[in-house]
Amino acid sequence: MNWLRSFMMGRYGPDQLYIALVITSAVFLILASLTGWLGLLFFSLFFFIYGYFRVLSRNIYKRSLENQKFLRLWSPIQSKVKQSFNRIKTLRTHKYFRCTSCKQRLRVPRKKGKIRIICPRCKTQMIKKS
Ligand SMILES: [Zn+2]
Repeated sequence: MNWLRSFMMGRYGPDQLYIALVITSAVFLILASLTGWLGLLFFSLFFFIYGYFRVLSRNIYKRSLENQKFLRLWSPIQSKVKQSFNRIKTLRTHKYFRCTSCKQRLRVPRKKGKIRIICPRCKTQMIKKS
């Protein structure tokens, strides 16, 4: 293990972008084996090699800038996906509405009959069946 530690000394190492590249590479590999299209294998190899190039790179500053750029692009997507999963998980117990004036998403408990909903953002009142 000592040789690995000295080999990795001064190198960038794995980060979130590396994980994303490896997962993308695996997805392309699976797609290539399912479809039999060799072009996808090339993409898989590209993402894999680029991921390891970044891990072994000595230009730590540049790699960390790349990772920051990636996280800026990725985090809104990630939060949207999380929101959707959360909504699906609570679909049995809660109902979702949109505010009629400001389009804010509102969540209310199900099976409470007709209820008055007050938007927390713009204070608009609505009567809805929950
Ligand atoms: Zn509103």
